[in-house]
Amino acid sequence: MKLMHPNTNIVCTHYFWGNPFKIKFRKHYCYKCGRRLIIVDHRQDENQPYNATPEYDFITPVTELTHFNKFDHDVFYCPGCDEYTEFITQTSMEDIEIIAKKVIKYFKKRGRTINIQRCFETKEGKIVKVCDLKDAKNMCLLIEEDERDSMLFPIPIIQLKELAKPYEFQLNKKDLIQFIET
Ligand SMILES: [Zn+2]
Repeated sequence: MKLMHPNTNIVCTHYFWGNPFKIKFRKHYCYKCGRRLIIVDHRQDENQPYNATPEYDFITPVTELTHFNKFDHDVFYCPGCDEYTEFITQTSMEDIEIIAKKVIKYFKKRGRTINIQRCFETKEGKIVKVCDLKDAKNMCLLIEEDERDSMLFPIPIIQLKELAKPYEFQLNKKDLIQFIET
């Protein structure tokens, strides 16, 4: 969507990324503090000092958007952490949680009680419960079951090359089941 600001010559574009159904119909919580997230309009100016917006790389040429000098899009915001999270990043993390719950159910039906918790492997190789995604190498699922050694299933954190550099996590339910079964 192109917008001309009425009093200026600024060409503004409002862009939208993410699955609208996942955004609208799910309840969204901060992955760090657990607070309910709100949706805010995040306006980014190309002329802003580059280091003021480290997550936004306007130097990367995005052919379709190069003639705009304002970028405007909705993002999640956590009032507790004062942090913005891209729609794709948040819903992708939620997708992992949904898969984990399904896998727990799958094993429960087969008489095994497992527990799956999310944690992160930092770039330094430490396993922590919460960390900034920019400092993380992998998201990990900690899988615990009575009388078995706990296991870590790593999920690589992929940073997409799009304008706002959202993160994405890919997990296949079958792969996780297979990992736990073997
Ligand atoms: Zn928070």
